[in-house]
Amino acid sequence: MRIGCPKEIKPQEFRVGMSPDAAREAIAHGHEVMIERGAGLGAGFADAAYQAAGAQIIETAEEIFARADMIVKVKEPQAAERKRLREGQLLFTYLHLAPDPEQTKDLLASGATCIAYETVTDARGGLPLLAPMSEVAGRLAPQVGAWTLQKANGGSGVLLGGVPGVAPGNVVILGGGVVGTAAARVAVGMGARVTVLDRSLARLSYLDDIFHGQLVTQYSSAGAVAELIKTADMVVGAVLIPGAAAPKLISRAQLKEMKQGSVLVDVAIDQGGCFETSRATTHQDPIYEVDGVMHYCVANMPGAVARTSTQALGNATMPFMLALANKGWKQACGEDKHLLNGLNIHAGKLTYAAVGAALGLPS
Ligand code: NAD
Repeated sequence: MRIGCPKEIKPQEFRVGMSPDAAREAIAHGHEVMIERGAGLGAGFADAAYQAAGAQIIETAEEIFARADMIVKVKEPQAAERKRLREGQLLFTYLHLAPDPEQTKDLLASGATCIAYETVTDARGGLPLLAPMSEVAGRLAPQVGAWTLQKANGGSGVLLGGVPGVAPGNVVILGGGVVGTAAARVAVGMGARVTVLDRSLARLSYLDDIFHGQLVTQYSSAGAVAELIKTADMVVGAVLIPGAAAPKLISRAQLKEMKQGSVLVDVAIDQGGCFETSRATTHQDPIYEVDGVMHYCVANMPGAVARTSTQALGNATMPFMLALANKGWKQACGEDKHLLNGLNIHAGKLTYAAVGAALGLPS
């Protein structure tokens, strides 16, 4: 199969769909790999690294789209890219179609077969191509929160780990899933006092087990949240109710109860955010202040660490990418119901019920 990987054109996206390692694997399986010139630079992969892996460097995205049987990307295709997709071509990338009728219309019109990373499942009921980005965002959350706590950035001037003779900072993590657990790991490592709240007792029990008393777990009631935020230096929002907007767990009125210069890191901002005062921000201008409380609400946190994110995403997508290339999408999806769950659009038809329901289209 001819596999094409264009440079990402969405603003501020530095990741790339295939690393040189992924290209090498595909080539070892007998496939041809075409990489757009400079596609890997944002993630620290030079063209020469792809050439050394056996890939061809192609000058333009047009040529890649014209020649490839399968396009491997990171972000949903932008309008210019959607025009280049053609009937029978396979697209493997994040799509997030439910809130995006324009993209859905264009992909249906293209006649391409579109497999979305975010709806591929695994045997444990997880989302294996979303989880690596949650791991990244979770580990970043205490890092960006600690930076925001610094005086020059508007924070209270608290050092999360404290020093001998001075108490460490308090970190409250709302949601103990993939993001929350990763955030807890880093916050504990920094020496902070960490409390994780969740509504799942099974999840709290798991966290209690793996952290061996290094953090406190608490059931996420409104009362517990109200009490804990009064003494928090940092609150990480990491809740998810699948298929729904994030619940608002801290109201504007409650900010007055919080310490001046404390920090809210709303990782759940891509689902609308779990604080009433959250609004999406960018890496250029990531923080703002409301009632003396600093907010960090970047919707694509993994983009800040494009190299790690590209490698983590590539590790997760590689087996699926190889199955699609080796067997073709029909056989690969026929043999693996989890990959089949990723099929969102085929030959002008919507094949994913939840997207159809969200957009009021037949599926
Ligand atoms: P997850 O499903 O693994 O975990 C979510 C957890 O929230 C679950 O354990 C669930 O029980 C818990 N929860 C639900 N309601 C709750 C409540 N009221 N109080 C406390 N806990 C509650 O999801 P995840 O992978 O950890 O993702 C969390 C959020 O982070 C999602 O919205 C995801 O889209 C987002 N995310 C954002 C970025 C970014 O760049 N901003 C990157 C990755 C993930």
